[in-house]
Amino acid sequence: MTDVLIVGAGPAGLLLATELRLAGVGVVVVERHAQRPSLCRGFNLNARALDLLARRGLAERLVGEGRQVPHAAFSGLPVTLTLAGTHTDHPYSLGIAQTRVEEVLEERALALGADIRYGHELRALEQDSESVTATLTTADGEHRLQAAYLAGCDGGRSTVRTQAGISFPGTPATRFSLLGDVELADPEALPFGPHTGPGGSVFAIPRPGYVRIITADPQPPADKDTPVTLDLLQTAVDDALARHVELRAARWLTRFGDAARLAAEYVRGRVVLAGDAAHIHPPAGAIGVNVALDDAFNLGWKLAATVRGTAPAHLLDSYHAERHTAGAHVLANTRAQVLLGEAEDRLGPLTDLLTRVTAHPAGNRAFAEIITGLDTRYATRPDSGHPWLGRLAPDLALTTPQGPTRLAQLLTRGRGLLLDLTVGGTVRESATGWADRVDSVTATCPAHPELHALLLRPDGHTAWLRTAGDDSTDGLHEALRHWYGAAAPPDAGTTAPYGSRTARRAS
Ligand SMILES: Cc1cc2nc3c(=O)[nH]c(=O)nc-3n(C[C@H](O)[C@H](O)[C@H](O)COP(=O)(O)OP(=O)(O)OC[C@H]3O[C@@H](n4cnc5c(N)ncnc54)[C@H](O)[C@@H]3O)c2cc1C
Repeated sequence: MTDVLIVGAGPAGLLLATELRLAGVGVVVVERHAQRPSLCRGFNLNARALDLLARRGLAERLVGEGRQVPHAAFSGLPVTLTLAGTHTDHPYSLGIAQTRVEEVLEERALALGADIRYGHELRALEQDSESVTATLTTADGEHRLQAAYLAGCDGGRSTVRTQAGISFPGTPATRFSLLGDVELADPEALPFGPHTGPGGSVFAIPRPGYVRIITADPQPPADKDTPVTLDLLQTAVDDALARHVELRAARWLTRFGDAARLAAEYVRGRVVLAGDAAHIHPPAGAIGVNVALDDAFNLGWKLAATVRGTAPAHLLDSYHAERHTAGAHVLANTRAQVLLGEAEDRLGPLTDLLTRVTAHPAGNRAFAEIITGLDTRYATRPDSGHPWLGRLAPDLALTTPQGPTRLAQLLTRGRGLLLDLTVGGTVRESATGWADRVDSVTATCPAHPELHALLLRPDGHTAWLRTAGDDSTDGLHEALRHWYGAAAPPDAGTTAPYGSRTARRAS
C-alpha cells in the first residue's frame, strides 16, 4: 500500500514524484524498462519549463549545462520569434538532452525518498471508492500493489489510460517521418538545419558522436511499428536530396507521425493522467517534455493535498480544467504549424497574414508566448483583473528580515506563499488559519513599490494580489479557501496538516 503509484519514469513521472515527496506523500514509481534509457528523444527545455523548475531550485544547474537560444520558430512561417521581452525569467530555449533532465529529476526524487522500481510493468488496474489496485509484472512474476491514487505517466500508448477506460479522441497520423541517429561517412555533408533538395528535405542535428537525421517517410507501411532500417533511411535521404549522403552506424532508427489526441478526462476517480499519456501532438515546436513537466507541476501539489485530506473538493478537478485546456492549446498550435508547413497555394494568404502579424513586436511576442506556454493563465477566484492574476509571478528580487532573496527561492518548499509587502506586514495575519499550508513572508520589493501583497499557489501562479490604492484584504480568505481549503481551528498548530489523512492511514 502506498499513497500514490506513479506508472512511468519519464519527465512527467519523475517530476510528479519529486512534487509529491516534497509534500511528504508516499510514492512508488514503476517503470517497465530495466534501466533509464540511453537513447535521447528531446533536446530542449523551453522558457516556461525553466521558470517552473526554477521554483523548485532545479533550473540553475541545467541552465549551466546547456546552450541558450533566445529565439524560437513557428513551423511553416518564415519568421523568427524572439523570446526577449516575453513573460518569463528565462527568455531562451535551453539546449539540453532529455536524458540529462530525467537524470536530474530522478536524483532529486530519490533524494526526497521516492521508491523507484525499474523492470516493473503495469498490466492492469482496478479502482474502487477507496483505492486503486495495480497488477505489475517483473522478472519474478506478477505482483499487486495498492495505492490511494494512481498516476498514469506512461507515455502516448498509456496502459493506464486504456485500463481506466479514458477515451483518447483526436486525429490519426496522416504523415510520418523517419528518424535516425547515425554517423555520416563525411561529417561535413549535413551541417545543422534543414537541407532542401528536389525530392524533399532533410533536417540534421549534429550531436556529440552522431547526427540526428529526420526526413519524410515517403511510403509508410500499413503497420507503422514495422522497424525502420538503415537502408530505408538512406534511400529516403538520397531521394530527398537527389545526391548520395552516406549514413552508417545507426544507433537508433524510428518512425513518428502527426497524430493529435487529447484524453477526455485527466482525472477519473482515483486515476490521473499526465504528460504524453494525456496528450499526443505533432512534434512541431519540440514541446512534449515541456508540457509533460507543466502537467506534473500542476498536478503534484493538488494530488498531495488531496491525499493528505486538506484539499477543497474541487482541487483535483481543477487539474483537469487547467491542464486539459492547456493540452487543447498545444494540439491546436502544433496542428496549425503542420498545416502551415504544407506547401499548398491556398494557404499562401494565411501565411502572408500571419507573417505580417509576427512582424509587429506584440504579434511576435504573442506567438512566442503561445508556442512556449508562457501565455498560460489559470482562472482565479476572485479575479480583480490584474494582469499577473492566474499567471506565473515573476521571480521578484526581495528583501526579507533574513536578508535578500528571490520569489522562486521562497517557493522551493512547494508550499503556498503569502508575500506581504505592506509597511509593518499587516496582511500576513489574515492567513494564520492556513499557516500549516501557506508560508507568510514579509518583504520589500524595490522593483515593484506598487505591490502590497501576493498570494501564490505552490506552483507559483498568482492566486490573489493587492496593489497600492487598494490595501484591503478583501477576497484573500476566499482565495485561501479556494486553493487550500478551510482554515485550521486556532489550536491546530502549524506542522501537521489540518485533516491529514496520511497520518490516519497505515502506509
Ligand atoms: C524522436 C522524438 C523527439 C522528441 N524531441 C523532443 C524535443 O526536442 N523536445 C521536447 O520537448 N519533446 C520531444 N519529444 C517528446 C518527448 O520525448 C515526450 O513528449 C516526453 O518524453 C513525454 O514525457 P512523459 O513523461 O509524458 O512520457 P515518456 O517520456 O514517454 O515516459 C513514459 C514512461 O513510461 C514507461 N511505461 C510505459 N508503459 C508502462 C507500463 N505499462 N508500466 C510501466 N512503465 C511504463 C515508459 O517506458 C517510459 O519510460 C520527442 C519525442 C520523440 C519520439
